[in-house]
Amino acid sequence: MAGGLTKVQQRLRLAIKIEAHGFLNMAPCPQCVSSNSICIVREGNVRCSVCTRKNVKCGSTFSDAEYDSVEAQKRELKARRRAIQAQLASLAQQLPSIEQQLDRLDDKQKKMVDRESDVLGELENFSAGDSVAMMSNTSAFDDVVD
Ligand SMILES: [Zn+2]
Ligand SMILES: [Zn+2]
Repeated sequence: MAGGLTKVQQRLRLAIKIEAHGFLNMAPCPQCVSSNSICIVREGNVRCSVCTRKNVKCGSTFSDAEYDSVEAQKRELKARRRAIQAQLASLAQQLPSIEQQLDRLDDKQKKMVDRESDVLGELENFSAGDSVAMMSNTSAFDDVVD
């Protein structure tokens, strides 16, 4: 016998551990319902603290509690999934507007470059066509000043 404890003592110790580290079973086992006891279950223990203490069959309530706890986790994950999907949808809605703005800015840049080319082209034409006239103008201007 481990630690010199009787089976009864071991059971009592286990029941106390379950009460200390377990959680309140939201769906109390039939034993606890009939004895109007507080049903404490703990992950890894098949019986609630009361049934462990009484050394009676607990029934499938723990698996119910486990199932409920998994169900609660699923609910939470589904809620998070919904929130993320909503965020994704709203983010996706912003994409076309951003694409539009980018296109508009691209156009703006193209027009700026076009205008610059036009101006450069005009300047080149101007300086090429009027260089002689300009030089003669300048000398004529110099003549006037002198
Ligand atoms: Zn119980
Ligand atoms: Zn029980």
